[in-house]
Order: sequence, then structure tokens, then C-alpha cells
Amino acid sequence: MELKACSRCKIYRLPSEYSGNKYGKDGLHWVCSRCLNEIYVRRQKKVKCECGNAVSESYLNKHIHTGLHLRNLQNRVSYEYMKSIAVN
Ligand SMILES: [Zn+2]
Ligand SMILES: [Zn+2]
Repeated sequence: MELKACSRCKIYRLPSEYSGNKYGKDGLHWVCSRCLNEIYVRRQKKVKCECGNAVSESYLNKHIHTGLHLRNLQNRVSYEYMKSIAVN
């Protein structure tokens, strides 16, 4: 059986360790199942944006251009401002 190198971790693995992909040269995915799983988990991982919203890591770059982000940011700034004047 021929081993196939994963294009992400560069480890040679058995074809059975790859999931099928019709776009792959040999009908297999170019990334091994383990890496695929890691990528998936990473995609699902939520990070906290400076606006206070929790968004998935891969979406963060898009999120900062959305109206929701700008609105949240504005609310946050005015909240911080209100807090600062309330203290004094
Ligand atoms: Zn891999
Ligand atoms: Zn945001």
C-alpha cells in the first residue's frame, strides 16, 4: 500500500487515514483526517473580539467589518465613558 504525505503535517500516512475527496488527485483529501479534525476544531473555536462579542477565530477578520461589531464597539466606548464620569 502506498503512503501518502499529508500536505499539512507532512507525515506519510496510509490512505485509510485520509477521508475521501472528489477534488483530490487520487480521490483522497490532501490533508489527513487528524489535521482535518484540528482545522475543524480551530474553526469552531470562539475568540473574544474587542467589541465584547464572541466570534469564531476564522470569522474574526470578517466580523470586524460588520455593523454589529461597530455598534458593539460604540456601545462599549460610551459605556466606558459613562463609567468614567460616574466615578468622578
Ligand atoms: Zn496531517
Ligand atoms: Zn467585534
